[in-house]
Amino acid sequence: MEILKYKNKVVYEKYLLPISPQFKDIKFENKHLENFLKEKKIKLYSHQAEAINLIKDNKNVVITTPTASGKSYIYIFSILEKLVKNPYSTSIILFPLKALARDQYGKILDLINEIGLDATVEVYDGDTPKEKRRQIKQNPPNFLITTPDMLNVGILPYHTTWSSFFENLDFVVLDEIHSYRGIIGSHICNIIKRLKRITAFYKSKKPIFITNSATIHNPEKFASKLIGEKVVEVSKSGAGSPPKVIQIYQNMRTLEVADLIAENIIKDISTIVFVDSRKESELLSLRVKDTLIKKGREDLIDKVSPYRSGYTPEERREIEFKAITRNILALISTSALEMGIDIGDLECCILVGYPGTLAQLWQRFGRAGRRNKKAYNILIPKRNALDQYFVKNPEELFQRQMEEPIINPYNKHILRKHIPVMANELPIKLQELTEEEKEVARQLFKEKKIRFYNNKLYASKQQPFSIRSAGQSYKIVETVKNKIIGDISEDILLYEAHPGAIYLHNGEKFAVEHIDQKEKTIYVVKTSVSYITEPLKESFIDVIEIEDSKNLGSIELFKGKVNVKTSVLGYTLRDLERDEKLNEIFFSEEEILTREFETEGFWFAMPESWEKYIINANFRYNIRLLKSFLLEKDKETPGFFVYKDLAFENLRLFIEKEDFDYLEIALKAINPFLNKLSEKDRNRFNDIVKRIRERRKSFIGALHGVEHSLIGIYPLFAMNDRWDIGGISTNFSPDTNKPTIYIYDGYEGGVGYAEVGFYRLKEMMESVYKNISKCKCSGGCPSCIFSPKCGNSNDYLDKTASIFLSHKILKSLY
Ligand SMILES: [Zn+2]
Ligand SMILES: [Zn+2]
Repeated sequence: MEILKYKNKVVYEKYLLPISPQFKDIKFENKHLENFLKEKKIKLYSHQAEAINLIKDNKNVVITTPTASGKSYIYIFSILEKLVKNPYSTSIILFPLKALARDQYGKILDLINEIGLDATVEVYDGDTPKEKRRQIKQNPPNFLITTPDMLNVGILPYHTTWSSFFENLDFVVLDEIHSYRGIIGSHICNIIKRLKRITAFYKSKKPIFITNSATIHNPEKFASKLIGEKVVEVSKSGAGSPPKVIQIYQNMRTLEVADLIAENIIKDISTIVFVDSRKESELLSLRVKDTLIKKGREDLIDKVSPYRSGYTPEERREIEFKAITRNILALISTSALEMGIDIGDLECCILVGYPGTLAQLWQRFGRAGRRNKKAYNILIPKRNALDQYFVKNPEELFQRQMEEPIINPYNKHILRKHIPVMANELPIKLQELTEEEKEVARQLFKEKKIRFYNNKLYASKQQPFSIRSAGQSYKIVETVKNKIIGDISEDILLYEAHPGAIYLHNGEKFAVEHIDQKEKTIYVVKTSVSYITEPLKESFIDVIEIEDSKNLGSIELFKGKVNVKTSVLGYTLRDLERDEKLNEIFFSEEEILTREFETEGFWFAMPESWEKYIINANFRYNIRLLKSFLLEKDKETPGFFVYKDLAFENLRLFIEKEDFDYLEIALKAINPFLNKLSEKDRNRFNDIVKRIRERRKSFIGALHGVEHSLIGIYPLFAMNDRWDIGGISTNFSPDTNKPTIYIYDGYEGGVGYAEVGFYRLKEMMESVYKNISKCKCSGGCPSCIFSPKCGNSNDYLDKTASIFLSHKILKSLY
């Protein structure tokens, strides 16, 4: 098999050698299981045997072997084995998404039936009918499949009706724990704590935790933080892998991607493609069909299918079955379902866009690999800093340290929600609480939200809350159909769903019409305008408390509590196709939206003298750039540059006297020459001249550029998403009396993202410097210093000054 198409777009290629599988025998007391494995000639991989033995030994485990290495067998077999001793043994299996839980239900049930056991499996989620719920509680299944959301609102607070379930609880399985980062992960820590209190109440023996994760940095540390107990790591996979080719394609247009997929179908190469949205998956599938028709292969158009959220479990399993039997050869999948897909081994995996973390990239790439057959893994990066970072530094796909999920179980706003629920579930003895929890409990007591007597905390029944956000959420209602299409957390509402905004949902555009603050509802209508909106913001930051500080060279670093006040003053309309600013709309005084919150931040200050240094270095550099540009063009097209001497003489005078009049004369002399340049060269020329004209602003432009770039590459270190952090830069901060860059957590109370910068600024600045200096653009672009969430619509940015500043910071950190 060879993928030859678009060879010219391949900017990087690497071969990975095959690895042979390792097996290990293991004896089960469960005879049904033992016979089943013998009959089916299933040999267990070494990591499966290792994990099962650890679990038998009552150890909590975290398993991080690759996709399709049979991780689910580990917990299923462990649970079945336990049934020999106690047929009433129960387990909770938690999946991060409802759809995933429903999927796994069928799969576990099938396996149990095949083995010939009468173990019971049930799903308990929002769709489980009332009568069924009652049955499940009365007659608990061996496998209870649910989500953390349901555990939080529907199971733990009603534990008294689940008593026989908790009395027999032996295992708690958490799948895909790498997705439990940030807010949701911080909530889950608290949910697990609540679960453990309840189990301790019903049962003398603690349940064993079996956790699975994609490859992350230090999984043992993360898993034990999540469940609050010691965990043993199983990461050496026995599954083996076929030879693999990893490729990065650059500048692929959608039609070319469609063509690549169509060619794969024609060549009988099974392919999975990952895209960002439901709409993208539908559109790309249509384009592949069109391409097949154009190639005269109408017979193959049923071989491509979208694979997205919104299908029933039956529909999904039908698609999966068609994929396994090669009746579908190309699946265009959204990320929402990536974890549950069961489609066997494929030959090619294409990622349209970097998935945000290396953990997810390798998890997706793991989908491709048929025994002894070469597998193709293709990354097609988009135009943003993070995606382009790997185009500029492809080896880092293999060499970079994996990300570490970040959680903060002690976020006060999260604790405030759990402590009253916890007190309602079972009265809390004071000694159960940590110092942070006690402080929150004291506050709750003052507010009369909890009661205290007999050295215990009590609370009445609490309102349910979402674990998907820290703040409250708003419903989004489509007015024409009067249908709820989703919800949005109040943390990002003012940026993405302010009046006049184009709200993007599942790849479709909705115009925001009205916000009802009282009903917490946003009314939208579907629209097909060609533009998107970007908020125009103004942010202020105040340091409330410095928790730690240090000096590295001439850089001073701080971390601590900050207060952030952001106002949305209006918005920009931007044409998507041409990437052009169309208009700016400002709100009236009363319409301005403001959000103020306390969070965690890190900031670093640099010497005042750097302002002058950067301005001068950048100025001299751009003059040199201008001169060599003119000389180079003059050489390419001799004779065209009529007023060359005049231009150079005035440039010389401009530098000597620093009088901008001379620059204007020089530019006039260059003018006739400009018309002969290509558009690209003319833009380059204009970028250089702009930087020279705005030399005084270049330090601000550098601080702003470094701030954007730092935020752009931040997920490489903190595994965060775009909205998780914010930044502010200033050439004079009243906190430090110096030029300062601030990075802060985007959530009330903080999750722990910002402090990563306090500890890893040096590595981060290395990436920032590489990212900007290796970028081939002339005046900044989305791959280096432009940010999609800039509150100043990417004005006041200076690319060359950003290179000087990031280099200066980096040198100072060594
Ligand atoms: Zn660039
Ligand atoms: Zn900005």
